Amino acid sequence: MQQVLMSIVPGIMAFAGIGIFVFAAFMMFSPALRGRMLARQFRSMRYATDLATDDIRRTGENMAGAAVDTLGNIIDEKGERLQEIASKTVGIQTGAILENKEKLEELADLVSDAAAKTVSKAASALQDGTAGTVFCKYCGTAVDADSVFCKKCGKKL
Ligand SMILES: [Zn+2]
Repeated sequence: MQQVLMSIVPGIMAFAGIGIFVFAAFMMFSPALRGRMLARQFRSMRYATDLATDDIRRTGENMAGAAVDTLGNIIDEKGERLQEIASKTVGIQTGAILENKEKLEELADLVSDAAAKTVSKAASALQDGTAGTVFCKYCGTAVDADSVFCKKCGKKL
C-alpha cells in the first residue's frame, strides 16, 4: 500500500506542476486567455457586489458619517478661534478703511470725475456727430459735413 502511494503521489505532483507551468506559459503569451481570466474576475466582482450591496452601502454611510462627525468636532474645537480670526480680519479691514478714509474719498472723487468727463465727452461727440460731422463711406473717417473730399483717403464724399 505504502509503495503504491510512494509511486502515485510524485506522479500526481509532477503532473500538477507541469499543468501549472503550461497554464502560466499560456497566460504569459496569450492575451486572449488573460482576457478571459480577467473577464472571469469582473464577473466574480459583480457577484461580490451583488452579495455585498448592503455592506457596501453601510460602509459608505459610516465613512460619510465619520467625515461629518470629524468636521463637526473640528468646528466645535476651533470654532472660537475661527470666530476670533474672522472678527480680527473684519477689524483690520475696518481699520484700514478708517485710516485711509481721505485717500479713499479722493480716489472715489477721481473716479467719479473721470466717469463724468467720459460721459460728457461721449455726449458732445454724439452731438457733434449728428450736428456737423459725416463719416467717409470709403475709410470711415469722421469729416466735416460741409467738406467735399475725405481728409484721410482723399476720395470724393
Ligand atoms: Zn476716406
